[in-house]
Amino acid sequence: MAARILDGTKLASEIRTEVAAQVKTLALSGVRPGLAVVLVGHSPASEVYVRGKVKSSQEVGLYSEQHTPADTVTTEELLELIADLNRRDEVDGILVQLPLPEHVDAKRVLLAVDPAKDVDGFHPVNVGYLSTQRPGLVPCTPAGVMEILRRSGIPVAGQEAVVIGRSDIVGKPVAMLLLNQNATVTVCHSKTRDLPEVCRRADILVAAIGRAGMVTREFVKPGATVIDVGINKITDRKEFDRVFAGNKKREETFAAKGSTLVGDVHPEVAEVAGAITPVPGGVGPLTIAMLMSNTVKAAMMRRGLYR
Ligand code: NDP
Repeated sequence: MAARILDGTKLASEIRTEVAAQVKTLALSGVRPGLAVVLVGHSPASEVYVRGKVKSSQEVGLYSEQHTPADTVTTEELLELIADLNRRDEVDGILVQLPLPEHVDAKRVLLAVDPAKDVDGFHPVNVGYLSTQRPGLVPCTPAGVMEILRRSGIPVAGQEAVVIGRSDIVGKPVAMLLLNQNATVTVCHSKTRDLPEVCRRADILVAAIGRAGMVTREFVKPGATVIDVGINKITDRKEFDRVFAGNKKREETFAAKGSTLVGDVHPEVAEVAGAITPVPGGVGPLTIAMLMSNTVKAAMMRRGLYR
């Protein structure tokens, strides 16, 4: 039987509607949550991401502002900008779009963000809150993964969860969130022995690898829930055939654009999994929705309104 498709676009829209309602309620007490986005230079991919974040902020009624220093900006200048955003009360969330240019000390810049305004949840203070189960700001993509599970009625407590990937941005925080919700968690990486066998234990399998269609049917226990975090662009014909041979719709996209997006999970997995997130339209849309949600959470926490 084909897997149930977990529709991230629909869930993200539900979350945005809830966030917009919270923004309206906060307005009654004179609070308008604000998000400041810092985009250095002109990377086309980063510009697309930032446009999406600013547009979504406006749709849910947040105050938003953009800072766009040239890619010649120094670490010191960025630190001054962050210090200014930290000081300003109308800014509740600060997001520094990555990657930063090579000459900039990215770690120092991220560390300078006030943890109370760290809507990306990357600051070591928030990482510590997450691992000790204290209220804090949780990274957006991992938080989105948990929302997909929760809103789709997929139980987590007591389940075997396997996460492939151990990055600070996705793999580790996803594993921590699953553990905090009482899953039995295994974290895999490039040195894991017999990866397919370990993955076959999973009731919930999360792939955050960055390798197009790497997770094939042999990785998946029949009926498991598979969450595909990967976003990979295929431009090579052979690679395309390995993943999408016989898929007419994808053929059309590939012929027209010369590329197509694929997750870390091979489409054949939909034939064995119980539930699966598509790419695109799975975890991706949740990431921006959770950024909106985090900005409202930051605004409430800073004012002692968050329970
Ligand atoms: P990283 O490159 O930082 O981490 C990848 C992880 O995968 C590493 O832990 C690495 O292991 C592991 N890995 C790589 N190759 C293998 C392999 N052959 N077998 C087992 N493990 C392997 O990537 P990110 O965590 O930042 O991102 C992962 C994916 O998620 C990417 O495709 C990215 O584009 C996507 N992404 C999607 C988002 C969304 O909104 N949907 C947001 C953020 C990321 P090791 O540590 O040993 O090197």
